[in-house]
Amino acid sequence: MTASVALVGVTKRFDKLVAVSSLDLEIKKGEFLSLLGPSGCGKTTTLRMIAGFIEPDEGEILIDGKPMRNVSVRRRSVGIVFQNYALFPNLNAFENIAFGMRARKIPESEIKNKVNELLELIGLSDRAKALPKELSGGQQQRVALARALAINPKVLLLDEPLSALDAKVRNALRFEIKRIQRQSGIPTLYVTHDQQEALSISDRVAIMNGGKLEQVGSPLDIYTKPRTKFVADFVGDNNFLYGTYEGDGSFVWLGRQFTVNSQEVGRKEACLVVRPERFRVVKGRSEINEITGKVSGKVFLGAMVRLAIEVAESANDLLVDLLSSDGAHFDVGAEITVSFDPDDSFLLFER
Ligand code: ATP
Repeated sequence: MTASVALVGVTKRFDKLVAVSSLDLEIKKGEFLSLLGPSGCGKTTTLRMIAGFIEPDEGEILIDGKPMRNVSVRRRSVGIVFQNYALFPNLNAFENIAFGMRARKIPESEIKNKVNELLELIGLSDRAKALPKELSGGQQQRVALARALAINPKVLLLDEPLSALDAKVRNALRFEIKRIQRQSGIPTLYVTHDQQEALSISDRVAIMNGGKLEQVGSPLDIYTKPRTKFVADFVGDNNFLYGTYEGDGSFVWLGRQFTVNSQEVGRKEACLVVRPERFRVVKGRSEINEITGKVSGKVFLGAMVRLAIEVAESANDLLVDLLSSDGAHFDVGAEITVSFDPDDSFLLFER
């Protein structure tokens, strides 16, 4: 098995700005971990510290159990792919991939075998002689990935590698990166601000906010059990209903009483979170956790439609996603009653 990476109490300041604050994080053996968060939250700084471009002010970074302080970028044996390809423009695909191996004085026959193997892995065997400018953006990024893998890195660091590509290529390459990572088993840190991307390809997702870690967990955990409002908000759209938890499994929002699942005791202010796709239309027989309102907006999303529903006394419209076939019955101005299961909602007790 290949190495793992550990960050222990890592802090990085730029003058007075704390870019990364007491970060504890582990990339386990063979794991694909995404670092997700808004612009400026410290993702790239974290990656650059693991790579060795910058040193932490406090704390320690270990690769395979070994402390990395004062170990040069090259001696850390990390493979890095940036957003903007960064291929050598005057070298063809083969030579770009071979570059790191040449620098390490690896025998020519070994280089040839390895590069050909990698060209096959990325599906570009027939483009070995192409210069970067003769390749599409997606192909260039594949070459960059192969170049990073060529040195048999202990860890792969990918910094928004797909963000310069158009949506279709991005989607295809996401799965390719995942496949290649799984085959190679190299622990990978994937920096992105795209929540969909992070949730779709990662074994675990670490969410950062203001230099700190908010939550680390499996994509499903992060999506269904966010621990903070920031996480809930950052990974997908939500309805935040501010009200009072009554301490007995019920929650009151604008005079409406809902049944919720919570082990909390005591009455307190809380926020009930319901994802738009968790609502269903109430037809006929009444159900628990109903909300009635008037459709104020409708957008077609393909398989789904999103309705904005004006609810009496609420300052915000309720967002409800329905299958297009269900949504077809409701136009702007129509009255609608929706409901949600207690299991499909969760309470946050912070403000
Ligand atoms: P983005 O998604 O926009 O790349 P990020 O989450 O990767 O953002 P970082 O690039 O790590 O964020 O930056 C974290 C904070 O540190 C930002 O406020 C940034 O302005 C600051 N910062 C980063 N590098 C430096 C530097 N070399 N000198 C001064 N400030 C820096």
